[in-house]
Amino acid sequence: MRVTWTGTALTFRLDAEDEITGKASDDHPIKLAINSCSIGGVPDDAHPDLFALAAWTVVAPWTRKRIVFDRAISAEVAEELYAGWGVKAGPVGAEPRRAGSRLAISYSGGADSVAAAAIHPEAPFVHFRRVPHPRVPNRWSHYRSDVLAKLAARTGRELSTVTSDLEFTLAEPRPGYPEHHAVAAGALLLADQLDLGGLGFGYELGSRWLGGGRYLWRYTPDNPMWSPHGRWGRLFAAVGVHIVLPVGGVSEATTMRLALGSGLKDYVRWCLRGTNGPCRTCGKCLYKELIQAAVERRPLDTPITADQPVARKWLKKPPYGGMEMVQYGLARVPGIEKTLFAGTLDYFDVTEESTRWLDHCYPRALGEIPEPWRGEATAFMKEHVGLMAEDEIRKVETWGS
Ligand SMILES: [Zn+2]
Repeated sequence: MRVTWTGTALTFRLDAEDEITGKASDDHPIKLAINSCSIGGVPDDAHPDLFALAAWTVVAPWTRKRIVFDRAISAEVAEELYAGWGVKAGPVGAEPRRAGSRLAISYSGGADSVAAAAIHPEAPFVHFRRVPHPRVPNRWSHYRSDVLAKLAARTGRELSTVTSDLEFTLAEPRPGYPEHHAVAAGALLLADQLDLGGLGFGYELGSRWLGGGRYLWRYTPDNPMWSPHGRWGRLFAAVGVHIVLPVGGVSEATTMRLALGSGLKDYVRWCLRGTNGPCRTCGKCLYKELIQAAVERRPLDTPITADQPVARKWLKKPPYGGMEMVQYGLARVPGIEKTLFAGTLDYFDVTEESTRWLDHCYPRALGEIPEPWRGEATAFMKEHVGLMAEDEIRKVETWGS
């Protein structure tokens, strides 16, 4: 793989051993569409390791053996690329970047990132906004990235909006981040300017510790994407921008409760299909409605019926990603047996008591937060959430076994 930056426009050229079909770190199969993208709203003089990592979030799935950057990187970054991916990287020769002092939040406007923002009220936002690619037709015009960017601007927080077409480097399954970490590409290039030492993501308990979408129903202390000792965690640390998961210890029910109870509640938006609010008809809206109804202890309010395709994902036999939240909803939503989830009840024997662990914070997640921000996150969790007791910790650590 050969990587060239022209200003903040990236082009890459595959070597003979590279392939246009690949797998992201979550094992999802993906196919390359085009070998160029650009990032707007960022300076063009960031540390070379930041350029290297920003590029790696886009090209990692296609790279097999080696990568040649257009400027020298530090030996530390080269070592992590080899240790984590078996990829030889060069040229080597730059001094490593020293970590900055500030934490920024990678802000999507969804409940999880709003909750992360509420925990760190001084942290600036970096918002990734998708823009069209000049050479790829946009078949996803219903995806309203402009709405989210406007909402982010209204929060009153210090905000950097990064624009990028990097999602269009994917042909299949659809435009999206080649690696989940590509959402951070712009924030990385801003890291010197913003003096960043950490970047906060809204990944919650399910994504970090319960297998999320990849392992399904398995405790994942060594999650390669989000654990600090995993390959991505170590690579981010090597460029002086630690991965920080402020809500890594709490469930989506808790992030929902925190987000809707925060000063940012009017800006929460998890569905990008509607312009004046969530569309209410997509699979994500259904899943979030189940969680919100459970948190608000009210009947389910959805136009979706069990015979519709979007409902299928949650009605089939488990296990599936987000299952802990389905259990939580089944145990709490009044009249759930009269909704489209009636059939799902057959698979689970759940009660409020057996799902109460999802209302508390897994302490080990706080221990993973780098020291400069751990105190603030811990104090917040103790005051607004409460830490898990021993038997609740055991629920996390025996998940799926
Ligand atoms: Zn929707």
